[in-house]
Amino acid sequence: MELAKKTGLSAATVSNIVNSLIHIGLLYEYPMATNGVGRRSIGLKINYDRFHIIHLRLTVSSIFMGRYNLQEVQQKYKVISYNDSTSRHDLLRELKNAIGKELSSRLEPPILGIGISLPGPYDKNSSFDLIGELVNWEGIDICHEIQEEFHIPVYAENDANIGALYEWWKDSSITDKDTLVYITTAEGTGAGIVSSGMLLRGRQGVAGEIGHMSVDFNGPVCKCGNRGCLELYTSTSVMTKQARKQAAAGADTCLAPDCSKKEFFQAVLKGDPAARSIFDSAMQYLGAGIINIIYLYNPSIIVFGDEMVSYGVGELLLTLVRQFVAKRVTPQISENVAMRLSTVNHDPAFLGAGVLVLNNISDILFDQNLFL
Ligand SMILES: [Zn+2]
Repeated sequence: MELAKKTGLSAATVSNIVNSLIHIGLLYEYPMATNGVGRRSIGLKINYDRFHIIHLRLTVSSIFMGRYNLQEVQQKYKVISYNDSTSRHDLLRELKNAIGKELSSRLEPPILGIGISLPGPYDKNSSFDLIGELVNWEGIDICHEIQEEFHIPVYAENDANIGALYEWWKDSSITDKDTLVYITTAEGTGAGIVSSGMLLRGRQGVAGEIGHMSVDFNGPVCKCGNRGCLELYTSTSVMTKQARKQAAAGADTCLAPDCSKKEFFQAVLKGDPAARSIFDSAMQYLGAGIINIIYLYNPSIIVFGDEMVSYGVGELLLTLVRQFVAKRVTPQISENVAMRLSTVNHDPAFLGAGVLVLNNISDILFDQNLFL
């Protein structure tokens, strides 16, 4: 009766839905304590372990794979590394082997679906199209390949879009009137936009590819074919390469000519002159990109996540970008855009891949004839 009141559905409809969910094991009944007056109530609980979900994140150098239950309680986590010289067929075989091993290692509970986070736009209507983000993957429809192999529903989406969906899902202060933009600050720079609860994908899932928005139309040529793309200046790999070059040329730095990305960001935090100068310059470019985002989408909140946040330079990024934006955008607009770092403990573009499956749970259950 309580559910009928809350949903506005008739008691008979609620009873039918509840019975279907009990039948497939997603809900179970338990006796509730009573105050001694009237009929004894029956409570309902969700069986979060009825199904598990496999979630993956593909980056230009690694595949992250995890498994969680319907409450996102992480069960397993692993990483497969590769490089640009790995052939796409070898990589696809390796990915299928990893999924196959995971499926055979634990048969129960069954896998509801597989969600995949990709480093570029995924257009399910015309196969895999990543504007040069993953050189080994062009022409491969990853969802189709994996679905054919394992007969499990597979969903894929660009990492920034997944991050945006996940942040929207997790932030209880966000209302349907808000527009949230999630920015990935990694080897690539991207944006996912959720407005009024809906992901803005555009015709081919390319909306929000700010990494390929030109900030210098005479600048260097990008892999996408454009010139002076934002991520040519803001990429974590580009910054690290600049630091190596400067170290080799004898610049004022504690860094070695073969420094790692992690060492570069540690040097930024310590105030190393060369590292700070490279980072500050990159944040000016990022600030310019954020101003474009503000005028394109007028977001109420911009969330920064991914590598720079996990390498610990997120607070510095926020300070520098806020300063840059405040100098160039009228306060009536800039002061109404909240900027914060992702508060998700693990990478939202990795965890969020499973949300693609959860968002489609009713379609999956109907397709598998689990509802009677
Ligand atoms: Zn580009």
